[in-house]
Amino acid sequence: MRKEYDVIVVGGGPAGLAAALQARQNGAESVLIIERDKELGGILNQCIHNGFGLHHFKEELTGPEYAGRYIDEVKKTDIEYLLDTMVIQVTPDKQVYCTNEENGYMVLQGKAIVLTMGCRERTRGAIAIPGDRPAGVFTAGAAQRYVNIEGYMPGKRVLILGSGDIGLIMARRMSLEGAKVVGCVELMPYSNGLNRNIVQCLNDFDIPLYLAHTITDIQGKDGRVNKVIVQEVGPDRNPVPGTEIEFDVDTVLLSVGLIPENELSKTAGIDIDRGTNGPIVYENMETSIPGIFAAGNVVHVHDLVDFVSAESEVAGKAAGQYVKNGEAQSATTLETKAVNVGALVPQKIRKDAIEKSVQISFRVRTPMHDAKILIKDGQGNQVAQFKREHMVPAEMENLVLPKVLVDRLADNTLAVETVEEA
Ligand SMILES: Cc1cc2nc3c(=O)[nH]c(=O)nc-3n(C[C@H](O)[C@H](O)[C@H](O)COP(=O)(O)OP(=O)(O)OC[C@H]3O[C@@H](n4cnc5c(N)ncnc54)[C@H](O)[C@@H]3O)c2cc1C
Repeated sequence: MRKEYDVIVVGGGPAGLAAALQARQNGAESVLIIERDKELGGILNQCIHNGFGLHHFKEELTGPEYAGRYIDEVKKTDIEYLLDTMVIQVTPDKQVYCTNEENGYMVLQGKAIVLTMGCRERTRGAIAIPGDRPAGVFTAGAAQRYVNIEGYMPGKRVLILGSGDIGLIMARRMSLEGAKVVGCVELMPYSNGLNRNIVQCLNDFDIPLYLAHTITDIQGKDGRVNKVIVQEVGPDRNPVPGTEIEFDVDTVLLSVGLIPENELSKTAGIDIDRGTNGPIVYENMETSIPGIFAAGNVVHVHDLVDFVSAESEVAGKAAGQYVKNGEAQSATTLETKAVNVGALVPQKIRKDAIEKSVQISFRVRTPMHDAKILIKDGQGNQVAQFKREHMVPAEMENLVLPKVLVDRLADNTLAVETVEEA
């Protein structure tokens, strides 16, 4: 195995696979993917439900099928990959420290690096649910891995906290495997999952959705969950006294948010956006360190893997071009500004680097109907507007802005604002 590569990709999920392929096709002569799991494919390997690939492949695939298509493509090339290998540090001068059982500790040098480490789930500790500390409280993703990969059932009577997609998918999965799912509890007055998942995973299985409710106590008996108290919450999200509901369950699944996995990025000294919890990136997914790129859930949590693939192709192509041509140059860099939306990516746009158009992605903070997305400059002058019948926080909005439109901005700010029509 060589010690130096044109491009080193950290993480072999869908983002890493797409980035590696594009890097190889765009100037990188040697590409290495490093994956800590025993196979490529990332989180998709445990997502055995369908619904993947509608945008990218124009057909409905399961997670493993979607990943499989990319893995097959990678295997047709000379892209190398290391499995069971943990990256423990990435340095600003693009060294990658990693370790595995076979080779021990390795120091590899890249000319460019693409970070695609995905994200991790928030746990009970992160949201501080009061009560006992019995067995039977799992994150939904961990339960999904037990059921779909390891072959274990986490429990028989289940309550789910959080109506994000992973929670919804697991409500259906546990029901199909014979468990009784007594309900799905959501703090917000609206669901955080895709509408199709509410219909297919809750409604089709008669699982009640408790909006504006939360768990206020977990009780255990003989070391295992046996009762959970749920309460309604008011507009201030505090529990309303007298609204307690008791559920006799042995299992609680938590689907309470994902956090981009950025320990490596932070140690490398990459600037992190407080809104997305991911690296601040340019239009080509380059981070604040030239030659280090990032894509996929490590940058911002995506709803659909199709968008992960598209974004990662941009990062991989740019990494290949960086190796071939050096750093992208631009006389003018625009800053993007989220006015009343969350998690806007990219945060910076090098004006001269835009070929025909630039894509921006964001999520609204609350559901909006008959809404408009306004694109403005720093002084509030509007240069474009896009109509949307509805927008919800669960779904990422993607806008492709033509170069001519960006050129109309009077200063170096591209502000994104949303308004509901009166
Ligand atoms: C339950 C669930 C249901 C979903 N349902 C859908 C759906 O119906 N449709 C859809 O389009 N999308 C769905 N998604 C989303 C989709 O799976 C993700 O958007 C996508 O997998 C993100 O890709 P990624 O490569 O960024 O991250 P990941 O798939 O998480 O890959 C990251 C990889 O990096 C590796 N890694 C991390 N740190 C290191 C390190 N230090 N060293 C080495 N390797 C490392 C990890 O092991 C992992 O393999 C779902 C996701 C989940 C969890």
